[in-house]
Amino acid sequence: MTERARDIAARVERFVRDMVVPYERDPRRGAHGPSDALVDELKDLARSAGVLTPHILPDGSHLTQRETAVVLIATGLSPLGPLACNTAAPDEGNMYLLGKVATPEQKARFLDPLVHGEARSAFFMTEPAEEGGAGSDPSMMRTTCRLDGNHWVINGRKRFITGADGAGIGIIMAKAEEGACLFLVDLPDPAIRTMRVLDTIDSSMPGGHAEVEISGLRVSADQMLGQAGEGFRYAQIRLSPARLSHCMRWLGACIRANEIATDYANRRQAFGKTLIDHEGVGFMLADNLIDLKQAELMIDWCAGVLDGGSLGVAESSMAKVAVSEALMRVADRSVQVMGGLGVSGDTIVEQVFREIRAFRIYDGPTEVHKWSLAKKIRRDWKATHGD
Ligand SMILES: Cc1cc2nc3c(=O)[nH]c(=O)nc-3n(C[C@H](O)[C@H](O)[C@H](O)COP(=O)(O)OP(=O)(O)OC[C@H]3O[C@@H](n4cnc5c(N)ncnc54)[C@H](O)[C@@H]3O)c2cc1C
Repeated sequence: MTERARDIAARVERFVRDMVVPYERDPRRGAHGPSDALVDELKDLARSAGVLTPHILPDGSHLTQRETAVVLIATGLSPLGPLACNTAAPDEGNMYLLGKVATPEQKARFLDPLVHGEARSAFFMTEPAEEGGAGSDPSMMRTTCRLDGNHWVINGRKRFITGADGAGIGIIMAKAEEGACLFLVDLPDPAIRTMRVLDTIDSSMPGGHAEVEISGLRVSADQMLGQAGEGFRYAQIRLSPARLSHCMRWLGACIRANEIATDYANRRQAFGKTLIDHEGVGFMLADNLIDLKQAELMIDWCAGVLDGGSLGVAESSMAKVAVSEALMRVADRSVQVMGGLGVSGDTIVEQVFREIRAFRIYDGPTEVHKWSLAKKIRRDWKATHGD
C-alpha cells in the first residue's frame, strides 16, 4: 500500500473513532436516515480535520481503487463515518461517474458541489415492480425521454431512490429510441414529486429511499450525461467501483461490530467463566476474523483488477457476493455473541446487522450476480469447446 493512502486512512480512522463515534447516539439519526442538519455538522468537523472527501485529492484526481479501499474501510468504522467524510453512497459513486463521463461544464455545475460536500445527490434507476419496471433487470426500464427542440422531456416513476428527498442533484436514467440515457438535473424540481419515503430495514442514508413521480420534466440537451443510448454502458462504469465501495464501507462497519462483540465476550461472564472461554463463543469470533480477512483480500484483489483498467464486471460481481455474504455472517455472529444487547439500539451492532441485510440486495442481489457469472462460465466453456 502507498504511503499517501496509509497516511490518509490513519487520519480518517482517528477522526471517525474520536469525533464521529460520539454522535452515534444523536437523536437526529432518524428512522429514514440521519437528518441533513446532523450530516452538515459532521461534514464541518471533517472539513476542519482535513478528511472531507479524502479519496479525491485537491487537484481533482482520484486515489487508486486499492488506495480508496483502505480509506473507505476507515470511514466505514461508524455508520455515520461515510456521511461525515463524504464517502457515502450514492454520492461517492455519482462523483466517480461524473469524474469519468461529465463535460467540464457539467463537472463545474454538478460535480464540484458534491466533492465539496455542499450538496447530496441521488441516482434514479429502479422502478416499481408492480408496474413491470426496471429492477434486477434494467432493460425493463419504463421511464421515457423524448427530444423536444433542444430539451428532453422525461416521464416515469422511480422507486427506492436513495437520498432523493433532500438531494440537490439527480442522475436520472430513462429510455429513448436510441436506448438508455442519463440526465443530470437540479433538485428539487416541481416535475419530480416525492410520493413517499419507504419504511425500510436500514437507516443510515439521509433522505431514506423514495418513490418519485417524474411528470413532464424538461431537461436541457446539454444536461445529458455522455451520449444518447449509452446509459447502460455509463451505469456499468459506475456500478463496479460503486459495488466495491459498498464492500469497503460495510467491511469497516463489520470490523467495528466485531470489535464491540469481542469486547463484550472478553468482559461478560456466564456459567463461571468469561464468554470467550466458552468454545462456542470463541469459535464465532474466530470465524469472524476469517470472514473479515477474506472480505479484505477479495476487495483488494478486485480493486487491483479495476486499477488495471478493466471494467471488472465479473470480478466485482464475485467480490460483491463474497463480501456481502461474509459480512452478513460477521454481523449475525456479532449480534449472537452479545445476546440481548446485540439486538438493542445500545450499540451499532444491531444497525450494522440491518444495513448488511439490505446490502445483499442493492447494487445487484446475490442471485443476479451468480446468474451473470454462470452465463459467463457457459460462454467461456463454449468459446473453448464449441456449441
Ligand atoms: C436499501 C436500498 C437502496 C437502493 N437504492 C437505490 C437507488 O439509489 N437507486 C436505484 O435506482 N435503485 C436503488 N435500489 C434498488 C435496487 O437496485 C433494487 O432493489 C435491485 O436492483 C433489485 O431489484 P428489485 O428490488 O426490483 O428486485 P427484483 O428484480 O424483483 O428481484 C427480486 C429477487 O429475485 C431474484 N432474482 C432476480 N433476477 C434473478 C436472476 N436472474 N436469477 C436468480 N434470481 C434472480 C433475486 O433474489 C432478487 O432479490 C435500492 C434498493 C435498496 C434495498
